Amino acid sequence: MGLENRYYYEEGIILFKKKVGEGDLLLTIYGKEKGKFLAIARGALKIKNRLRGKVNIFSIGKGYFVKRREVDLLIFWDSYEKFFEIIKDVDKFIILSKYLKKADKFIPLEVKDLEIYEYLYKFLKNWNLINKYSGDVFLIKLLQKLGYISKVELKCKGCDKDLLKDEYVYFDLDNRKIYCEDCRTLKSLKIKSEEVIKFNEILDRTFDELIMGETGFSDKIFNLIDRMIERIEQEV
Ligand SMILES: [Zn+2]
Repeated sequence: MGLENRYYYEEGIILFKKKVGEGDLLLTIYGKEKGKFLAIARGALKIKNRLRGKVNIFSIGKGYFVKRREVDLLIFWDSYEKFFEIIKDVDKFIILSKYLKKADKFIPLEVKDLEIYEYLYKFLKNWNLINKYSGDVFLIKLLQKLGYISKVELKCKGCDKDLLKDEYVYFDLDNRKIYCEDCRTLKSLKIKSEEVIKFNEILDRTFDELIMGETGFSDKIFNLIDRMIERIEQEV
């Protein structure tokens, strides 16, 4: 590898930072070209280091990196947008970090995806609107973009019976399909059909529409969504 190929610029969002070694930071960055990747900011916590105070969590900017066999090194970071307001608001910081950590489990390393980049950016941009509801919506829409979930048909997977008119249906968390009472699987959850309809609605609408508009979603549906996310977490 020639010297010129060892260095590169990358625009991205710093999603996480973790102290490692003697004053170094291990960063998780979502880059426009690289997707999610790790980089070490060597000495970033040391006084008089050029990176000190520059590599802030949630900052969006451009970095200059050098390739390493293990983890690349960050040489310089220039922030365009810092989102200091999030860091100052302890409650929001905690809730945003919690959802980003959950999201992190599903986002593969080094897969370029501009849609995911834009989505993470939008999530940070709307930081003051993020709560349990919009955080869950964020995860659901992310899982949809990554191909983990899709709309659920209100039809029995076993006997093909149309279940649109049934009040309750059985939802199998393993294959994320619906069953009627007769065909239900052992591990399926009894849920209201309405929850399935609401779930499909979330998948049909954009993140903006969902967090800006009236929610109209009951807590119940988030119970289903929590279980679904928990189950998918076990798969990855
Ligand atoms: Zn059936």
